[in-house]
This record gives sequence, structure tokens and C-alpha cells, in this order.
Amino acid sequence: MSTAQQFDHIIIGGGTAGAIVAARLAQAGRRIALFEAGPSDEETPRVLELRAWQALLESDLDFDYRIAPQARGNGRIRHARGKVLGGCSSHNSCIAFDAPDEDLDAWAAAGAAGWTADEVRPFFARVREEVHVEPPGSDNAFGRDFIAAAQAYGLPAGALIVDGVLRRGVNWTDLNKRGNLRQSSSVAYLHPLRQWDDRLTIYTGQYIPRLLVEQGRVTGVESADGPLRCAGDVILSCGAFDSPTLLMRSGIGPAEHLRGLGLDVVRDIPGVGEHLLDHPEGVITWETTRPLPPETANYWEIVLFEMTRAGLASPDLMFHLGYQVFDMHTAPSGYPTAAHGFSLTPNVTRARSQGVVRLRSADPVVPPFIDFRYFTDPDGHDERVMTTGLKIAREIVRQAPLEPWIKWELAPGPDVTDDEALSDYVRATANTVYHPAGTCKMGAAADPLAVVDGELRVHGLAGLRIADASVFPSMIAVNPCLTVMMIGERCAEFVLK
Ligand SMILES: Cc1cc2nc3c(=O)[nH]c(=O)nc-3n(C[C@H](O)[C@H](O)[C@H](O)COP(=O)(O)OP(=O)(O)OC[C@H]3O[C@@H](n4cnc5c(N)ncnc54)[C@H](O)[C@@H]3O)c2cc1C
Repeated sequence: MSTAQQFDHIIIGGGTAGAIVAARLAQAGRRIALFEAGPSDEETPRVLELRAWQALLESDLDFDYRIAPQARGNGRIRHARGKVLGGCSSHNSCIAFDAPDEDLDAWAAAGAAGWTADEVRPFFARVREEVHVEPPGSDNAFGRDFIAAAQAYGLPAGALIVDGVLRRGVNWTDLNKRGNLRQSSSVAYLHPLRQWDDRLTIYTGQYIPRLLVEQGRVTGVESADGPLRCAGDVILSCGAFDSPTLLMRSGIGPAEHLRGLGLDVVRDIPGVGEHLLDHPEGVITWETTRPLPPETANYWEIVLFEMTRAGLASPDLMFHLGYQVFDMHTAPSGYPTAAHGFSLTPNVTRARSQGVVRLRSADPVVPPFIDFRYFTDPDGHDERVMTTGLKIAREIVRQAPLEPWIKWELAPGPDVTDDEALSDYVRATANTVYHPAGTCKMGAAADPLAVVDGELRVHGLAGLRIADASVFPSMIAVNPCLTVMMIGERCAEFVLK
């Protein structure tokens, strides 16, 4: 590999956002080196076929990060992260939402200059020009009866975001797919660029350990073949765990932590690795009287939004309906399971607990310390929403349209009814919706936790931008993949400007 300035830009991480930045800059004529830790997704059915997505969990294409023991949550959660071109957009269940207006306006109000809903909408439109989004196309009798039950409970059926505003309701969700094939950022943006190999060089199977920083400027990366520099910005797109750890290994982060590991401090940025956000997700399961119909796009294609108390401006609770007994954390805790049934997974739309990502070692082969501190927000908001969610799930399932399907509640079981017991259960068996974010937060320079500014430039360091879920200033209420893609589009625009 040449160490001359052969490339205009180096992009680290060919995932959800990174693939888009790379493609857009190459399309604009820039010479791009894209480094991806995993292999290509091309001609790989287990990645491309959406229905197979759960088989990728804990596979060779998953970083499969362990988390720290949790004081109030489930420390057995394993955080999936796609290690393949397309990143988590090559691994996920393709539930497709644009962020609601109120979440984007909250980003701007918190100091992310230029990220109001009005300013951001055109970039969602660009994503949707490339990424095909369609209804699941898997209508079936159980799904229809479930929606009828949710309506009987009191939720309107139909669009869940109307004129940018998230509302209570139930619906089949759109998916970024075409037929049974996922529309990841790699499929939608990189695959069509094969003919432009001279502008876009993709190095797969390379986990970049560190950035090169020279006189306050990020100039390139340490690659397997030696140092590689570029003429323009380096773009970091390794996701909410690997972007902060790569910064820290490069001497960029909380000074005391870095010194404690024997690392030279290049730039003291206290917010790196702080402000770890997620959607925590509980589960309640039922056995059905018979197998569910086989028609499904991803096993999880119906969603609900609800408000857990009167007077809220926006839903604080989301459910995914799973056409399976999701017993990943209930079975190991001794709860019964069954061959056929379904699950409702209440999750907290704007969870308030915040965690942290730190290095355990300066050695890149050692996985990071990841502590979500689930259910530790001082007001008990996350725990209360989730516990209320279990009760709402039971109310919905009690409705007449579902009666012929229900055999019995498996977990936590009908005898678990008081708030304390429900909370103990739901926290102990909680999973994640796999939406970590916020560890390189976007915000104004005066914000002590901000890592990047409104144009995704790292505060106090030249030559480096970050584009991935780590820059979220706060959690959004919906599944985040399209929002991360939008960040990729915006980053390319900023670089080209
Ligand atoms: C199992 C699962 C299901 C999900 N379901 C949905 C869903 O249905 N809908 C939805 O909206 N969201 C979903 N999500 C969340 C969504 O997919 C993610 O929030 C989003 O894709 C994250 O994008 P990113 O660009 O931040 O990171 P990623 O897409 O993870 O990209 C990071 C990339 O960087 C690479 N990388 C990391 N470190 C290095 C390094 N040092 N050197 C080189 N390369 C590196 C990785 O291999 C990866 O390709 C799901 C996520 C998972 C894991």
C-alpha cells in the first residue's frame, strides 16, 4: 500500500453511515480508502436475506460485545454489532423509520447547530432515493387479529408518524428491503459503485487500531500495511462502541483514563465514551393454541406506540410484536418456553439512563468495558415505563380478537402482578433493541460532553469527522438505522462543502 497522499479521504468503518460517506465522496470524484473490519457482504445470502437476520447474532460476523454486570439491569445482554460491509445495516431487522420532528428539534435545541427537522428532512429524502423501503408484504391472520386486538384496546391503526409527529397507534412497519433482500447501506450505495474502483478502494478484514495524529491534525491511520495518510479529512464511522475506543487508543478522550492505561494524551476530550444511550427492551411471552402462520418478512413487523400516562406530548413506550417466543433471557432465568407463541417487547422510546464506554487495555484486541447502567436514571423513568408496558401488553392480549390464539402467558406468568415483582422480572430479563448511541455526542463547544460540532468535526482537532450513531445528542423514539444513514449523507455534504 502506498504511503503517499494517494487518497483524498480515509473512512474507517464501512458500516451503516461509513458506506454512505464513502459512496457519496467517490461519486463526487474524491479518491477514497474505506477500511472495514469485516468481509464483504456481496453474494453472501446469510447477510442479504432479511429473514435470516437472527442467525447472524453471535456469529463470526458479529462483534458480540459483552457488557459489564448491571446493578439494576440484565448483565447477560450481548450487544450485537455487524462486522461486515454495511455494518449493522447488514445485520439488523430493517425496521425503517425517519426520526420524528420533535427528536431532531431537540437535537438542535441541545446545541447541535443545523440539525432541526426542517434542516435535516432533505437528507432523509436522499437516503430514500437510494434505499428502497416497502411494507413487509407478509400480511397474515395472526397479525391481523393482533392489530384488531390493539384497536379494541384503544390504539388507532395506521401511520405512526404523521407530518413528522409520532403518535400512539399500531401498524405493520415499513422495512428497508426489496422482497426478501435487505437494503443495507452497502447494498444500496456500495454495490452499484463497482465500476468506480479507481475512486473507491475498499480494504476489508482490517480493524484499524489507531489514528495518525500529527501536530494537532489527524492525517491518516495505522493500517495492517503501515501508516496511510490522506490529503483531506479522515472520517470515523465505527459505531457507538468502536468509534470512541478508536479515539481513546489514539490518545483522544478523557485524559485521566488514558493516562491510567499508559497512553499519551493527544487531546483531552472528556465526553469521548460518555453518554452511552440505548433503547432497553423488556419481554412478555405467550404460548399459542397453534403455530402462527408462516408468512413473515423478519418475524418482527408489527409495532405499537403508546403513552404510559395522561398528559404526555409523545409516546414514551414502543412495542415490537415478535412471531416467536423470544426466550433469550427468560429461559436461562427458569421461565417456561414453547415451540409456538409470540412476544411483546416493551421498550422505552427516550430512555434516560446513561452509560459509559471505556478501554480495558490499550491493546486493540481487548474488547472495551461497556456499562449501560440500565434503569439507573434518578427518577426511575425507564423502570416505570417498562413495568407499565407489561401491564399494557396484557390488556391488549386480553382483547377478544386474540382469544382463539392464546393458550397461556409463559413469562413472567399470570401470577406476577404487583409493580415490584413486575419490575424485578422485567429488569432481570431485559434485552436491548440493539440501538447504542451517543458516545461521541454532537453539541456546542461549551457542552462539556460534546465531542463533535454541528458539522461532525471533532472539537479541538483538525482533519477528523465522525459519522455514525455515536454522534446522537439524545435518543430518538424510533428505530435509528435510517437516521444513521441520514447522518452519512450529511457528513458527505459537509466534506464536499
Ligand atoms: C441485531 C440488530 C438489529 C437491529 N434492528 C434494527 C432495525 O430493525 N431498524 C433500525 O432502524 N435499527 C436497527 N438496529 C440498529 C441499527 O442497525 C444501528 O443503530 C445502525 O446500523 C448503526 O450504524 P453505525 O454506522 O453507527 O454503526 P455500524 O453499522 O455498526 O458500522 C460500524 C462499522 O465499522 C466497522 N468497524 C468497527 N470498528 C472498526 C475498526 N476499528 N476498523 C475498521 N472497521 C471497523 C464495523 O465492522 C462496522 O461495519 C439493529 C441493530 C442490530 C445489531
